[in-house]
Amino acid sequence: MTEAEDLLFVNDFVLIEQHCTEVTVAFEDLAVADFFDDQIDRGYRPEQFARIWIHTHPGDSPQPSHVDVETFERVFGHCDWAVMFIIAQGGKAYAELSWRHGGPAALRMNVKVDYSQPFASSGQHTWNAEYRSCVHKQHALNPYDFDEWEGWFSENENAPELNRDPTRDFSTS
Ligand SMILES: [Zn+2]
Repeated sequence: MTEAEDLLFVNDFVLIEQHCTEVTVAFEDLAVADFFDDQIDRGYRPEQFARIWIHTHPGDSPQPSHVDVETFERVFGHCDWAVMFIIAQGGKAYAELSWRHGGPAALRMNVKVDYSQPFASSGQHTWNAEYRSCVHKQHALNPYDFDEWEGWFSENENAPELNRDPTRDFSTS
């Protein structure tokens, strides 16, 4: 979720019901449709809630896998613009802005936590409940998935460190 006046300023996260393996994600079609309906009813525009895809990686590498790249293209490829943001368990981040008008083109982004903006207190218990109700673990049955997983770790040994100081940019390039 982003501010209406600043479409790259993320102020909230919403988990959509999904089935995940270590390397893949499949969203519930009905959950996606409900999410769109709810947000439109609340007066939000799709640019505020359906252009930035954020996901996490186990381990230390935030580099997008082949599955991530294909998913991003398939799901968001029709949008004027979209962002893929990945944060790894170790804290490293990757962000890429892609757009179609005048493109297609893609741009690596720097991201930071903006503590200058007001924000509500954290709600760890609520987050955990949301996670448990929305994220369903699925065993990877397709051997293709395991191939993806291996390449995903081996190709990213030189990924940059996240800047641990939250008041400064953590460069993703
Ligand atoms: Zn990924």
